[in-house]
Amino acid sequence: SGQSQYRILREADLRDYLAGLPAIVAHLGGAPADWSISEVGDGNLNLVFIVKGTSGGIAVKQALPYVRLVGESWPLPLSRAHYEHLALVHQARLAPKLVPAVLHHDGPLALTAMELLEPHIIMRKGLIGATRYPRFVEDISTFLARTLFFSSDLSLTAAEKKEGIADFAGNHALCKITEDLIFTDPYRVAEQNRWTAPHLDATAAAFRDDLDLHVAISRLKLKFMGSPEALIHGDLHTGSIMVAASETMVIDPEFAFYGPMGFDIGAVIGNLIMAYLASAGHERSPGERASFEAWLLETVEGVWTEFARKFVALWRSEAKGDGYPVSLFAGEAGATRLEAERQAYMARLFQDTVGFAAAKTIRRILGLAHNIDFEWIADEKQRAICEARALKLARSMMLETPSFTTIGAVTKAAREVR
Ligand code: ADP
Ligand code: MG
Ligand code: MG
Ligand code: MG
Repeated sequence: SGQSQYRILREADLRDYLAGLPAIVAHLGGAPADWSISEVGDGNLNLVFIVKGTSGGIAVKQALPYVRLVGESWPLPLSRAHYEHLALVHQARLAPKLVPAVLHHDGPLALTAMELLEPHIIMRKGLIGATRYPRFVEDISTFLARTLFFSSDLSLTAAEKKEGIADFAGNHALCKITEDLIFTDPYRVAEQNRWTAPHLDATAAAFRDDLDLHVAISRLKLKFMGSPEALIHGDLHTGSIMVAASETMVIDPEFAFYGPMGFDIGAVIGNLIMAYLASAGHERSPGERASFEAWLLETVEGVWTEFARKFVALWRSEAKGDGYPVSLFAGEAGATRLEAERQAYMARLFQDTVGFAAAKTIRRILGLAHNIDFEWIADEKQRAICEARALKLARSMMLETPSFTTIGAVTKAAREVR
């Protein structure tokens, strides 16, 4: 398979291709002719096939040379499959059992075969159905703390860190998508923008005219572009998380690069807040989802609190990086001062998290790529009410970020906007 040349695989081609890989044949079991193969990709960019044999299943993801959501008119490099594979392997090492195991990768075909997650579903869908995930806070906070800490200057030598940055520097086309679709287009006239019209016409226009907001989003954009703090997932919304009652799995790290940690944490928190504000649009009788909604806000609080606790604990016990030389913090006075500095670091990271959570929210309502939390609210007027609340909250999180000093202030504001 080192000889493979890129071609878009159909089911029959995939069957032949996989039949040539002994480890995959053994994993699947049975005769290749009897494997079931179906394309299930529901994302914006790639093909995903589920393949099942008599003894096991796999998921096979292949990058397309263009954006699936838009079509061939919007080319996108196949190299993203290489970065996704690299990130999956890195995350599997740092956060065992929280990402699907890679079973096979083919660079020229831009293809990765991985562990089939079953009976997992996409978390976003579970949340629309008001399902609670008791393991989520524990698992996602571990994923975030470990993947971010161990790729940061708190853990790595300067040389290791710069080699890591270089390994992912070529993934700039995926970064550019984020730079445009999250940090620019929702705030200007752009052909691909859409929103629930006519209800949100005036709000969309106000966002395009608000210079305070344009300054705030541009500061966040610059932070995204110019802060290689850690290897981030880069697309950590609730559609990139698959859940079962007892398991949380993070998928789809094709946007990975060395960027600001708050972008990943903010993605999780922003998407949970969107689930919360969309929830009213999914109720069939008033108050039916109240306890689920309370759980969602507890989850928002838990994600930050547990992440911060685990990250600081790693910093205390595993800091081998060049970032804070122990020789500068000797003795009891040094230890006390370093501990205060850890708290100051977390306070700054929290500010970034609040800003990025807001940016992730606004782009889902005024930009190109929307989410089903809102889209599945069939009544457009009701949907617009939910979306307007989310925009109002996000705007204040972006413009008044320093007033959100705790995660409790964020959940309080989310409650009050309803
Ligand atoms: P994209 O980059 O196009 O968004 P994803 O990696 O998010 O692609 O995968 C698209 C969909 O395929 C997911 O929403 C999920 O339903 C399914 N999927 C992806 N990976 C797996 C897996 N390992 N096991 C089961 N289903 C998967
Ligand atoms: Mg995806
Ligand atoms: Mg498993
Ligand atoms: Mg993707």
